[in-house]
Amino acid sequence: MVTERDYYEILEIDRTADDAEIKRSFRRLAQRWHPDVNADAGSELRFKEINEAYQVLSDPTKKQAYDMFGRAGVDGAAGAGFAQGFGGLGDIFDAFFGGGAAGGRRTGRANTGSDLRYDLRITFAEAVLGSDKEIEFPVLDRCATCNGTGAKPGTSVTTCTQCEGRGEIRSVRQTMLGQMVNVQPCPRCHGEGRTVDTPCETCRGEGRLERRKKIRVTVPAGIDEGHQIRLSGEGEVGPHGGPAGSLYVAVHIQPHKTLKREGTELFLEREISIAQAALGTRVTIPTMEGDEQVEIKAGTQPGAEIRLRGKGVPHLRRANARGDLHVFVKVAVPTRLNKKQRELLEALAAASGESVTSGSGILDRVKDALG
Ligand SMILES: [Zn+2]
Ligand SMILES: [Zn+2]
Repeated sequence: MVTERDYYEILEIDRTADDAEIKRSFRRLAQRWHPDVNADAGSELRFKEINEAYQVLSDPTKKQAYDMFGRAGVDGAAGAGFAQGFGGLGDIFDAFFGGGAAGGRRTGRANTGSDLRYDLRITFAEAVLGSDKEIEFPVLDRCATCNGTGAKPGTSVTTCTQCEGRGEIRSVRQTMLGQMVNVQPCPRCHGEGRTVDTPCETCRGEGRLERRKKIRVTVPAGIDEGHQIRLSGEGEVGPHGGPAGSLYVAVHIQPHKTLKREGTELFLEREISIAQAALGTRVTIPTMEGDEQVEIKAGTQPGAEIRLRGKGVPHLRRANARGDLHVFVKVAVPTRLNKKQRELLEALAAASGESVTSGSGILDRVKDALG
């Protein structure tokens, strides 16, 4: 993978573009950005991006996975399919593509199955405290009849005679840019190096079948929104007995009613009255382990922070380390006062020698009375 950019954006096409448009756009951009014809510093990377995007969007299976799951649906797949052949492009491109400029990561494992992505929704508490979840999803799994070989039981899998098991055909050709080694997937065995004489009837020679799979996923305490849990070998198995890709479980966390989270820290706002701020009080704070009584000292200012150490979110990688729960004190100024409350506040202002505008005349009378 050479890029994080959106594949449609890279190819400058709409998500509704059809095969012909995808191909047309790819050819136009590839011709413009080919490093051998474009001397710009970034042309090689740009070209690889274009190529990677085309790898995915030109393959109906990968395109569907990308449309549904985004990058995670095709990670590892792009590049692996490099040797699939493009057909119809000029020599210059055949030579470049055939050379496998961006491939190689899966050399010898061209038939590894695709990675899958599963979106898992969990509660706030499950994320903070950890949990065990069972998930079920459709997956291409090994065919039990032929044990993944694709050959009918009793028949054999033979080494491809055209490529002698290498899966590729190499040739050297002259291009306008000089001599280039051209590597093409073997047309007889489609790059797998072996052929099946009599295909398995259950899987039609694919070696795999779609089924629903159930597995348990351990969600570690402290996992955060957007994190992915990688389960290697739980993705799709490859064709003809190829190894399985990974399953990426992408975690989505429901927000908490009152607690906000940033990494390992939890935040909470707690409103108290003017009198409580001035005189002190006790409030009930919801923590992940249940309600807790917290003392608010006399003279607490608006915006003051009370920190409950170790009541935050566990660190994912540091055992027994936890963040804090931060309580921010908000002092509510009353907007509606009954007669008694108003008199008391006016008396308070008067006692402090403060001038207030409320209930004109009353203050003066109080002042007089106190005079
Ligand atoms: Zn089979
Ligand atoms: Zn072959």
